[in-house]
Order: sequence, then structure tokens, then C-alpha cells
Amino acid sequence: MKAFAMLGIGNTGWIEKERPACGPMDAILRPIALAPCTSDVHTVWEGAVGDRHNLILGHEGVGEVVEVGNLVKDFKPGDKVIMPAITPDWNSLEAQAGFSMHSGGMLGGWKFSNVKDGVFGEFIHVNDADGNLALLPEGLAPETAAMLSDMVPTGLHGSELANVQYGDKVCVIGIGPVGLMGVRGAVLRGAADIYAVGSRPNCIEIAKEYGATDIINYKDGSILEQVMDKTNGKGVDRVIIAGGDCDTFDEAIKMLKPGGVIGNINYLGEGEFVKIPRAEWGVGMGHKTIAGGLMPGGRLRMEKLAAMVMAGRIDPSRLITHRFEGFDKVEEALMLMKDKPRDLIKPVVTINW
Ligand code: NDP
Ligand code: ZN
Repeated sequence: MKAFAMLGIGNTGWIEKERPACGPMDAILRPIALAPCTSDVHTVWEGAVGDRHNLILGHEGVGEVVEVGNLVKDFKPGDKVIMPAITPDWNSLEAQAGFSMHSGGMLGGWKFSNVKDGVFGEFIHVNDADGNLALLPEGLAPETAAMLSDMVPTGLHGSELANVQYGDKVCVIGIGPVGLMGVRGAVLRGAADIYAVGSRPNCIEIAKEYGATDIINYKDGSILEQVMDKTNGKGVDRVIIAGGDCDTFDEAIKMLKPGGVIGNINYLGEGEFVKIPRAEWGVGMGHKTIAGGLMPGGRLRMEKLAAMVMAGRIDPSRLITHRFEGFDKVEEALMLMKDKPRDLIKPVVTINW
């Protein structure tokens, strides 16, 4: 089969690979909608998780089931399904402990385009199909549903990690597609004021639509000073980090009230240490928590988030700015994600076989 792969750090290309085999609990899909992710960019061009050779890229999409293993109960060939970016082994001890995303070891639930072939292939292997696939709801466009693989669950996980409560003041640093869903998650969890940090006009417009009350452009000066100005020097209860770098934690800790929580969903592609300012961290005693997490993945979460989309609570279709047709366009879509033109939020490729 044909696939688009990471050939090595900084290098991508089309390759031929064996069609994956289907184990007893697995499913094989054919993609019908695919989306590239900023994480693919960190993985290939920053080599952030190490070198990979001929590893098929991609972890976001919707597919049609073509084969299932003999132990799969709930899916059959012909079903249209959403695949989660994170596909844990649900019988692992880590999953039993509540950390499905780390099944088998740290970040072990993140298999696609990390430790096994991703979804940019003519056929896609999904482990533990009953635990990891969700039926595409009737009436939901595959391109919109593709946002349920990663953008929606990860962005919302930011608001879960930050433990946003009713009436909170929340700063969301980074309003690409992930941070935008972080904004929406904060709204849904009852935040009062939401300070959204970004500079792309498209993203700013959607941040306001999703419920951000204030926009902060990090290019206009220190985020910290702007947040402190807007909060009369008091700071915020929660920070969701979905952009920036290792130094971003410095400002995040400083703007946080004692007892506050940082929910980081940013993939730190570069740098060795995260910066925590000693004094503003209460010399170690400020009750300022940093929670950083990969989203949990799996079927139940996707079914629930899909239900939220169907109920009109979330509209992830607003994230899609660039549309392509045909499997061959996966490369162009990924390059767009790498180059990040100012009008880009998220590209999607739809495929009619
Ligand atoms: P984008 O690149 O589209 O968005 C990044 C955002 O951060 C933009 O709003 C950008 O602003 C802003 N930004 C950039 N530099 C700074 C800075 N120095 N200070 C403050 N803000 C800054 O990324 P995505 O939304 O696609 O992804 C966000 C992160 O989430 C990525 O690292 C991605 O890999 C990660 N991720 C994590 C997952 C998880 O499970 N935890 C899953 C999926 C993704 P501007 O408007 O100027 O572009
Ligand atoms: Zn992704």
C-alpha cells in the first residue's frame, strides 16, 4: 500500500509498505478524512521524540472499517468510524490505574505516528477496536468528525487538567486549534473571564466566537503584564498552555494566584528544562500546580465528545480553514501545517476511494 511517512528527522516522503495485518481484537480501516497535526511537525522537523525511519505519519481522521478481528464485537466492515489519536491498551495496568494514555509506559497510548504506523496510509491498523473506535454519528460530516480525533479531546483536556471551576479567570496561552478548544472547554466548565493569547486574526475571531472575553497578543509585549493589567494585578485562577515553549511556564506561574493550576497540553518539542520561577512559585510553597498531560483517548470519550458536537455545545467545523480532496493531498496539507500561513487554523483532506 501507499503511505506518507517520516523517513528520518527533517525528512518526509511517499513509501510503499505492507498492508497491516488484523489481530483478533483489531480493525483495519481505509481513511475517508485525514488531518495533519502540529505534533507531526514537532515529531518530524524537531525530532522531538527521536528518530524514526519509514514511520507512517498522522493520527487524526475518520475511516471506513474494511476488516475486523474475530473478537471484535461492536464494529463490522462498512462502518464509518472516528479514530482517536490516542489508542490505549485498555487491559493494561496503567489504564486500570486511570492513566490510559500511558498504557505500557509513559505516553504509551500514543501509538499512531509515534511507536507504530500512523493514519496517512491507504490502510490503517487500530488496536483494541472495541475500546478505541467510535461510530461516526449520522449527519456529522467526516471532516468535522476528524477534529474529534485530537483537537477537541486535547483542547478540552487542557481545561480538565487546569481543573477550571465556575467563575474562574482563565488564561489560555496559544489559540491554534488546540488552544481554541481549550477556550471552549473553559467556557463549558463555567469560566467567567477568559484571556486568550495569540496573534493570528482567524484564531482571534474564533476565540471570541467560542467565548474568550479578552484577547492578548503576545507580540505586543509581555503576556504577564497584559494579564496583570486586565486583572488589577491579581492574576488568574487557571492557565491552559497550548502554545509557546519551555519558558512559557515562567509567565504562567507568575500570573497564577496561589492555589491555581496550570493545565499544559503543549508538546514541548525543544529545550531541556522547563522554567519555574522560585519566588513566584511561593518559594516552593505557593500551592501552584503544574499538570501536563496527553489526552486520554479511547472510544467512550470520543462518543461523548461527538454527542456534544451533535448537541451543538461544540462546533469544531469552525477550526477547518483549508480543505483538500484526494489521498495524495496529505503531503500538501502537512506542509501547510509546517509552514503555518497566517490564515491557517486546520487543514483537512477528504478521500473518496
Ligand atoms: P498552533 O501552532 O496552531 O498554535 C500555537 C499557538 O501558540 C498560536 O496561537 C500561537 O500564536 C501561539 N504562540 C506561539 N508562540 C507563542 C509564544 N511565544 N507565546 C505565547 N503564544 C505563542 O498549534 P496547535 O494548536 O495545532 O497545537 C498546540 C500544541 O498542542 C502543539 O505543541 C501540539 O503539538 C500540541 N498537541 C498536544 C496534544 C496532547 O495530547 N497534549 C495533542 C495535539 C497537539 P499565533 O497566533 O501567533 O500563531
Ligand atoms: Zn494531533
